[in-house]
Amino acid sequence: MPSKKTNFETDAIRHQSERSDFREHSVPLYLTSSFVFNDAEQARALFADEIPGNIYTRFSNPNTTELIEKLCLLEGTEDGFVTASGMSAMFISMASFLKSGDHVLASRSIFGSTHQILNTIFPRWGITHTYADLNDTESWESKIQPNTKMIFVETPSNPALDLIDLEWLGKLADKHRLILNVDNCFATPYLQNPAKWGAHLVTHSATKFIDGQGRVMGGAVLGKKELIKEVRFFARHSGPSMSPFNAWILSKSLETLAVRMEQHCASALKIAQWLEKNNEVEYVKYPFLESHPKFQLAKKQMRLGGGMVTFEIKGGVDRGRKFLNALKMISHSANLGDTRSIATHPASTTHSKLTDAERAAVGITPGLIRVSVGLENIEDILNDIQQAIISSKN
Ligand SMILES: *Cc1c(COP(=O)(O)O)cnc(C)c1O
Repeated sequence: MPSKKTNFETDAIRHQSERSDFREHSVPLYLTSSFVFNDAEQARALFADEIPGNIYTRFSNPNTTELIEKLCLLEGTEDGFVTASGMSAMFISMASFLKSGDHVLASRSIFGSTHQILNTIFPRWGITHTYADLNDTESWESKIQPNTKMIFVETPSNPALDLIDLEWLGKLADKHRLILNVDNCFATPYLQNPAKWGAHLVTHSATKFIDGQGRVMGGAVLGKKELIKEVRFFARHSGPSMSPFNAWILSKSLETLAVRMEQHCASALKIAQWLEKNNEVEYVKYPFLESHPKFQLAKKQMRLGGGMVTFEIKGGVDRGRKFLNALKMISHSANLGDTRSIATHPASTTHSKLTDAERAAVGITPGLIRVSVGLENIEDILNDIQQAIISSKN
């Protein structure tokens, strides 16, 4: 990995793979499935891992290598592997290390498909799990079993935007010799670097803020060299690799991550403050609002509060649905982290299969609206929210 010499924005823009003889300024796209060997000896040495170099794009490609190196610079990790989607990253970050009989301790409020891996897929292979609540840290240590191998968390969580202290978790994981795996999708490397606080693996859905423009899917597993060696072995032979095209797009996306996140966060904070004063709103959750229960922690481990705002509109499930139907500009879509603002109503969509009690346990109240604040002019976003609050009242 390249060593860090410049600041975040500069690393994100200036780190790129070596120029070819064409002296291109912007990085070219290497659409090739394999690479030629100079001679039999080089082929042998490449396959024996004695020298670095590309063999086949399922293993590595100049575009994926560039993206990995850049993500490592930005997250402060030693090595990484990039994958076709966020879920393939989550899956291999666990499956590379777990075997029958192992146990995972996970926070209850994790992404829906990550729940499915733990609830439905892993039990087929004899891998069990226990959930713990982000807001009940006292219970975590007692839930660690002799066969626990990994702790998996998301902070801030989706959609309730609860936080957990990463430094405390890092120490807990080290004390029990566990791998701490943090899905850093909501924060992005610009806002939070879990490896700095002791996470051994940092996982991403690059589909969200890293792409930032709702175009491509992607994921990443980043971390210590010894761990990524296992991940790379598992991925090389099971095949969830990212396409060079997506890696090329995502490397370009990272060049603007800092300026985009600054704007997402500035607008999100303004919207959160505006909602907090609105009488039709029961409560607002945003990590950088002083009313957030973990405001001090947010300030400690995050640079800014993020691009997501969650609020409870008065009037329950019905009002939540009416609010979404009344929006004129903000999209109603399942994605997040786009230039376009997006609103969702988890109780009637993504989390509708849960019972009321299960929803309550992850902080999803009936009228909870999650907004992924985009990069449109802040006045236009606020106007749309305001008119939808008013017209959903009837
Ligand atoms: C979207 C998301 C994922 C899954 O990523 P995909 O790219 O959709 O596969 C995982 N974790 C979090 C927190 C997400 O928001």
